[in-house]
Amino acid sequence: MPADSGPGSRRRPTDAGFVLDTRSLGRKPGTMKTLQRAVTVPEAIGLDLIAIPAGAEVDLDLALQSVSEGVLVTGSVTAPIAGECSRCLESFTDEIVLQVTELFAYPDSATEQTTEEDEIYRLVDDMIDLEPVVTDMVGLELPLQPLCAPDCAGLCPECGVRMAIAGSDHGHEILDPRWAGLAKFTAESPGTGGTAAELN
Ligand SMILES: [Zn+2]
Ligand SMILES: [Zn+2]
Repeated sequence: MPADSGPGSRRRPTDAGFVLDTRSLGRKPGTMKTLQRAVTVPEAIGLDLIAIPAGAEVDLDLALQSVSEGVLVTGSVTAPIAGECSRCLESFTDEIVLQVTELFAYPDSATEQTTEEDEIYRLVDDMIDLEPVVTDMVGLELPLQPLCAPDCAGLCPECGVRMAIAGSDHGHEILDPRWAGLAKFTAESPGTGGTAAELN
């Protein structure tokens, strides 16, 4: 959590990025506002192999609705993702769409008093910070073993070439042990020629 969003902070966070101002709702249950915003993320959000990359633009398309206990946020968060295929190691890009339904409780509400902070999010100075919501959802949504395509053929177990490049007829002839022995003999024969002549 950023230092300036703590309870000791005097300064109201600005209505920018993932921080959403709810003051215009006036704490009147039933009032609602919609919000469309593009947020550029300074740091990657996600997992080691797959994440919303740093500098990516995340699109918020949300409705903020005042309810008796707080503000309900619904809508979608759409972001580009960049990953590395766990099967063929190729990097790939994709898009993630998160469907958000999250209540942010008023500081003096019954919900605030009967729940823990890690169960229900809180409004701080009438502001919503959506970043932890996005971070949590991305972490749950993204696969631990991402694939560039559901049917990724991976790498050739014999030589490590990417099968998508090598083609479906790529393969290796398994050498017969007898042929392997002959190959060894052929390789050694130039050096053994002289000895063989002496033995005769
Ligand atoms: Zn792959
Ligand atoms: Zn191969």
